[in-house]
Amino acid sequence: MTSLTIAGLEGRPVSVADSTLAHFASDLEGSLLRPENPGYADSVALWNGMITKRPAVVVRAGSTADAIRTVDFARAEGLELSIRGGGHNIAGLALTDGGVTLDLSALRQVDVDADAGLARVQPGATLGDVDRATQAHGLATTLGFVSATGVAGLTLGGGFGYLTRRFGWTVDDLEEIEIVTADGALRRASRTVEPELFWAIRGGGGNFGVATEFTFRLHPVGPQVTAGLIAWPAAEADRVLDAFRRVTDAAPRELTLAVLRRNAPPAPWLPESAHGTPIILVVVCHSGTPDEARTDLEPLSSLGEPLANLVQEKDYTAQQAMLDATQPKGMHFYWKSEFVPGLSEGLLAAYQEQFVDLKAPANQIVLFHVGGALNEHPEDDGAVGNRDAAFACVTQAMWAPDSPAADANREWVRGAWQAMKPFSTGGNYVNFQTDDEPDERTRESYRGNLARLEAAKAAYDPDNLFRVNRNIRG
Ligand SMILES: Cc1cc2nc3c(=O)[nH]c(=O)nc-3n(C[C@H](O)[C@H](O)[C@H](O)COP(=O)(O)OP(=O)(O)OC[C@H]3O[C@@H](n4cnc5c(N)ncnc54)[C@H](O)[C@@H]3O)c2cc1C
Repeated sequence: MTSLTIAGLEGRPVSVADSTLAHFASDLEGSLLRPENPGYADSVALWNGMITKRPAVVVRAGSTADAIRTVDFARAEGLELSIRGGGHNIAGLALTDGGVTLDLSALRQVDVDADAGLARVQPGATLGDVDRATQAHGLATTLGFVSATGVAGLTLGGGFGYLTRRFGWTVDDLEEIEIVTADGALRRASRTVEPELFWAIRGGGGNFGVATEFTFRLHPVGPQVTAGLIAWPAAEADRVLDAFRRVTDAAPRELTLAVLRRNAPPAPWLPESAHGTPIILVVVCHSGTPDEARTDLEPLSSLGEPLANLVQEKDYTAQQAMLDATQPKGMHFYWKSEFVPGLSEGLLAAYQEQFVDLKAPANQIVLFHVGGALNEHPEDDGAVGNRDAAFACVTQAMWAPDSPAADANREWVRGAWQAMKPFSTGGNYVNFQTDDEPDERTRESYRGNLARLEAAKAAYDPDNLFRVNRNIRG
């Protein structure tokens, strides 16, 4: 009898008979893929090209029932199991090396009930899938800044984007989830049904099971917003940061800004003479009226001589995809994040200092304004916590796979992050953690909610079947 060796849960390889695998595969509505099968390469190609993990088998789920079958199979055989949504996690958590990857990316249905103001979303949907479906009704829920990101991973880690200041973390608008837990049960959880499970998955990542459907509360947004970006030469950085601070201080909830320092990309909307030179950019999304946007943005739009001002009335869906081209799939990415409570002099000085002599073409530090609705919830409203965050500070490096600058870029990120860490709330975003970050960082991101999260993990996944994630039992 022949068999396949698959990575086991206890760190030991497990021999699974071909007949057992064949029996499992024959039950699937989707397909079971080995490395030699068409489709396998797509399933293991992640956004972060640095990740080279190779599962022994990939289950391309064709239905919720396939997710249940896979959980039962992995548990029964004692196999390491990973879950792939959009494949965007920077740490490559979608894949296991040598184990079983459950790839949900074919399940992308989004059903909008405009009258009820709800969207039901399958776990393979991207942010763009959801935005397109909900905006057809002039509705939206809070999702992130790059449209190819998976809804599943983003939501389970908390989620933030241009609408966070109005509506809170993405999980604040999560009404219900359908999830396959480690015992193979398909459960629905909400604030009133299985409330402890619901509390835990609102930020607890993939620790609790395979999410097979998300139900989000929707809000009227757009379809037109006043949005885009303004870019200045870095020589203007002090004045831009001062205006950024004043505008964010006074901003209504409809206005979200992010500031970025980097070297100018060779983009057609920038003068050629600026390409490769240090610049400072402010990204803008105002979902109020155009008149309100004009007034609220005046301190920025009247500032100095911008290299480009692309702020205009545009589709919300276009704004949601505006940054896509800056984050091409397959490049190598390395990030570090902290939540910060405000824009102190010290933080802004450190921010500026990190760019002296920065040569890397695509490295940047971003300060996303997130303060607003999320601060109005108690810290223990969902595992996500971090209700004292006003900005997310994210240091990002990107380089081509064959670049010799990998080590220098990682070093730069770590150095810049260390310089800004003293200004942190003490919390960081679990969804921005890289694979070299210790378990301690995961625990830090949950702060005062950690003990309750651990208790929920012990109740719902006592054997830690769901461990290929930012694992709270790590
Ligand atoms: C370019 C880029 C931009 C981003 N911008 C933002 C942003 O604006 N706001 C923000 O909040 N985040 C942002 N993120 C971070 C993003 O939220 C995380 O990377 C998230 O993990 C991506 O989800 P995914 O489904 O694509 O991930 P995957 O890599 O597919 O999965 C990551 C992990 O999520 C869990 N998971 C995924 N699907 C399921 C499921 N169905 N059931 C249970 N667990 C599951 C698993 O633990 C899995 O290992 C961004 C990421 C990238 C790469």
